[in-house]
Order: sequence, then C-alpha cells, then structure tokens
Amino acid sequence: MDYKKYITIVEDWPQEGIRFKDITTLMQDGPAYKKAINELTDYAKTRNADVIVGPEARGFVVGCPIAFDLEIGFVPVRKKGKLPREVIECDYGLEYGKDCLTIHKDSIKPGQRVVITDDLLATGGTIEATTKLVEELGGEVVGLAFMIELAYINGRKKLDKYDIFSLMTYQ
Ligand code: 5GP
Repeated sequence: MDYKKYITIVEDWPQEGIRFKDITTLMQDGPAYKKAINELTDYAKTRNADVIVGPEARGFVVGCPIAFDLEIGFVPVRKKGKLPREVIECDYGLEYGKDCLTIHKDSIKPGQRVVITDDLLATGGTIEATTKLVEELGGEVVGLAFMIELAYINGRKKLDKYDIFSLMTYQ
C-alpha cells in the first residue's frame, strides 16, 4: 500500500524549517490505519515479542493496537510526572528541544522480548532513551517498529545494534 498518500506534510510546524509528517490523516482512514497496524503487527510477531513498549503519545497509537492484536501487554513510556507509581527515568534530546522519559519500575520482567513502537524515527533520541529504560529493567529490545522513518536525519545510525522496521521512508 502507498501509505504516503495518507500522510499530510505540514510546513513550518511546530517551528520554522520543520516539515511535520502528520499521521492523523492516516489514522482517520479506517482501512489504511488497519493495514498499517496489520503490517507492524506481523513484524512484531516475527520478532516473537512478549510485550510492546511505546512512548507517548503517538507511540500509543501505533503500539496499543499491535499489542491488542497479539494479545500481549502494552507498556507506556511517558514524560516525567505523568506515571502514578515508582518509575525510572532517562533524559534525552529531541529533534527540537529536550525532555525526560519515564517507565514504571515493575512494567518489564527481566528477559522479556520487547518491541518498541513509535509513529516516526527522526534523530532516534526518543527511541534511544526508551531502549535504555527497557534495558535498565532487564528487557531485551528485539525490534523497533515505526510508521515513518526520516532517512535524511539518519536516526538509524544511533540505533544500529537493533532490528528496525518502518512502513515508509522519506529520503
Ligand atoms: P526523534 O526523537 O527520533 O528525533 O523524534 C521522534 C519523535 O518526535 C517521535 O516521538 C515523533 O512522534 C516526534 N516527531 C518528530 N518529528 C515528527 C514529524 O515530522 N511527524 C510526527 N508525526 N512526529 C514527529
């Protein structure tokens, strides 16, 4: 499927010079969203995932339906101050700005095979921080799954020890 025709490119958002890839127009189309999730689910299945982990908020949009389809758990990674119980945290740099991600301390069991999902891979900062959180809890990151990969930013290089799958690539 040509998923790119469902993505809207928003010029100069959230700041000048950024060409934001808006996935909400893909999500608005039921069959396209379902097909995209089916493909990502097939990938997670090939990696024998025990659990799916996704950073807020668009990592939930991608990861939750995959976990639901596979009847495995979904673990949210959230910005500092959002999760209600004991967390571990990791600072990271964004394509634009800085932040801190957290995960519940009891959310991953040592040795669990984890596939991490997000809508988009840019610098890889968000996902690198997420891999650190999962690994600190003893999880094994067996795959990274994205709807979109921005190849010109080359976040893949930062994450080259991991298996990476993306539905579409922008050069
Ligand atoms: P990274 O940490 O790889 O530099 O940036 C990826 C994160 O920023 C993802 O969580 C993603 O949701 C968000 N992001 C950055 N640029 C875009 C974009 O153009 N479109 C969308 N949908 N998300 C973006």
